[in-house]
Amino acid sequence: MAEGHAAAAAAEADVRVEAESSSQSQQGVASSRGAMSQEDCVSGIRSALNHPTARFLREQMEKSGCQVWPRLIRAATCNSAGGYASQEGIKVCCNHMTLQDEINQVIIHELIHAYDDCVTKNMNWKNCAHHACSEIRANHLSGDCHYKRELLRGFMKIRGHEQDCVKRRALMSVKNNPYCSEAAAKDAVEAVWHICYNDTRPFDRAP
Ligand SMILES: [Zn+2]
Repeated sequence: MAEGHAAAAAAEADVRVEAESSSQSQQGVASSRGAMSQEDCVSGIRSALNHPTARFLREQMEKSGCQVWPRLIRAATCNSAGGYASQEGIKVCCNHMTLQDEINQVIIHELIHAYDDCVTKNMNWKNCAHHACSEIRANHLSGDCHYKRELLRGFMKIRGHEQDCVKRRALMSVKNNPYCSEAAAKDAVEAVWHICYNDTRPFDRAP
């Protein structure tokens, strides 16, 4: 969000949808452990593309005529775990990556955004509800809220926690959308919650 959207009339492609995968305690973990080298990160991205979930998403995107590898994904130095923007594709913030599992998560999360961007008719990232829906799906379907990852972040596993986690992380991302106020983000997440949490395309159910 540091790009400074001077003009509200900025092209839709300028709106960034950033992952929030490391914006909580994981970021602290990353800095204390030290990020992996750029070289390891790039080879980690390559292995992540062979992750079964990433491969499945790729196949589904190709079937739908979406642009995919290799131009879609790039290694970068940035402020979050990763991001996706229309026309720009996916970036992995290597300076925040410490483990292969984190790279896998970021790539799967951002691939869901790329899938939505390609498959959803008239996808508009300036629209808080559209963005909220894609974040709910990305956080749900990527396993970002798997209890093992939540434990690493210091959140306790409690009944219903997976949905709380998806909602919390979706809300954080939508709040960072320059076109969505905090109140608008909250309303949007609530408004589309049931439809988008239950929309597991292209999976039969959440992997
Ligand atoms: Zn996201």
